[in-house]
Amino acid sequence: MPSSRRDLSRRIEDADKAKLFTELIEKLNLGLSFEEIFSLIYERLSGALPYNRFAVALLDEPKRRLSMVAARSDGPTILREGYSADITGGSLEPLLRERKSRIIGDLRAYLAGKPDSESTRLIVREGMCSSLTLPLIAHGEAIGVMFFSSRHPDVYRPQHEEFLRGIVGHVAVAIERARLLEQLREKTEFLESVLNHSADAIVVVDTRNRIRSWNEGARRMFGYEPHEAIGADYSMFLPPELQGTEEATRIKNWVEREGFVTDHECERMAKSGRRLTVNVTSTLVSGRDGRVLGRSCIVRDVTHLKQLQAEVIRSRSLAAVGEMAAVIAHEIKNPLAGISGAIQVLREAIPLTDSRRDVVGEILEQIRRLDDTVRDLLLFARPAMPDRVELAVEDSIHQAWELLACQPGATRVRLLLEGARGVRVAADPRLLNQVWINLLQNAIEAMPEGGDVVVRISDATPIRVELTDTGTGVSPSNARRLFEPFFSTKTRGTGLGLAISRKIMEAHGGTIGIQSDPGKGTRVILEIPR
Ligand code: ADP
Ligand code: MG
Repeated sequence: MPSSRRDLSRRIEDADKAKLFTELIEKLNLGLSFEEIFSLIYERLSGALPYNRFAVALLDEPKRRLSMVAARSDGPTILREGYSADITGGSLEPLLRERKSRIIGDLRAYLAGKPDSESTRLIVREGMCSSLTLPLIAHGEAIGVMFFSSRHPDVYRPQHEEFLRGIVGHVAVAIERARLLEQLREKTEFLESVLNHSADAIVVVDTRNRIRSWNEGARRMFGYEPHEAIGADYSMFLPPELQGTEEATRIKNWVEREGFVTDHECERMAKSGRRLTVNVTSTLVSGRDGRVLGRSCIVRDVTHLKQLQAEVIRSRSLAAVGEMAAVIAHEIKNPLAGISGAIQVLREAIPLTDSRRDVVGEILEQIRRLDDTVRDLLLFARPAMPDRVELAVEDSIHQAWELLACQPGATRVRLLLEGARGVRVAADPRLLNQVWINLLQNAIEAMPEGGDVVVRISDATPIRVELTDTGTGVSPSNARRLFEPFFSTKTRGTGLGLAISRKIMEAHGGTIGIQSDPGKGTRVILEIPR
């Protein structure tokens, strides 16, 4: 070839390479995935150097092992993804350390001199005869190696190395970036999955108390969808009576002062109106520059746990109280019977016309009341097994009302029956009567100025009875203690009425609960199985 034609063809070749070079750099800067980078090189570099095989291996932390991450050739590959080897003492170690490329013109001869080189043996078996190996250096750090190999011996020249040296830095940076992005994506997905699968509500609130992040646990716990919660004021979960109180800013202030709060127990309200006892752990969230961005809150629903704890405490104290009450009641019952008998004998001796007979009669009446109280205590301490008969619920309520209606406090109280009529239930008439007396008595006592007791019977399964009065109601702080034995807000109360009623309901397999609106009234809800 005349020299001018050779010059021309070289100039065209150089121009092509320059174009390819620019194109590759532009593409590598796009932020491709590793697979895309790999394919780009495999498909596009053949214009600049000969190869039948291309592979990339990357260094694992702590940079002692090299793992093949991709290999492609025009035939089958044996040395491929998943192959990994320690570089210590191997021929690649100095290459990586000195950041030098290496050309092997005859791989078979090389293998004969280094029969231990497993990787060389494998690519020779693939039919490769020569190779060009370059370290990948990103930001001054060796991150791996690129391998080009050919089925022909002695194909690699210094100008190939030179061309590759121009792009290898870009390739390395692109791979490193792809790897970091992949790790970041994995980490983000992992964190998101942890966040979303947490049973706890995890909420991030900004400094203005607006909700910024709302996980799946929060959605389940509070019932608000993310679009309803995000941007809303975090105080929306406070029960109405705590809105605008110190409680609204308590956690915020604590966290801002101390940096964190752990296991703060408080009451919150779900969208449905259900009250939750929650345990809050909150931490200050600040940016890199130390500026406070808000706080993260991990909210755990302990409502059920609390109920169980209360139940355990209640049954323990009931058991203790029951023991004591049973002993005392027993001690009182016998002398009381003796006194009553003796007085009756005395009364026989008093002439019928003597007015002292009435006084003795009054004593006997008081003894009967004492005996009733003692019976109550025993009933509470050792409740009888219900002796069930079928009875009409409204009749049993009427009977109880008749016993109470004559007392002075009851004259301005009306009993109104609503709902289903003739609903029948299998229950112990004496015990059920006791429940109505306790509840109606409480209603009367809650309405000193008079009012209505509305009894609504629902013919459902279980049978539901609601007694609603228009009395004083119960304060939220007392509400949880109503069923405790001896808890009373009355000067003359025994505090046993509700405790006994609950025991009787439980003996029937039923339930009793109270809802109250302080100042407006109280509703007692009973459910009795059919
Ligand atoms: P006692 O009536 O002897 O106080 P109870 O066990 O019957 O004991 O009731 C416990 C407490 O529950 C009462 O002291 C009262 O504070 C509250 N309570 C019960 N029923 C009502 C009601 N209908 N309205 C307002 N408060 C009530
Ligand atoms: Mg009472």
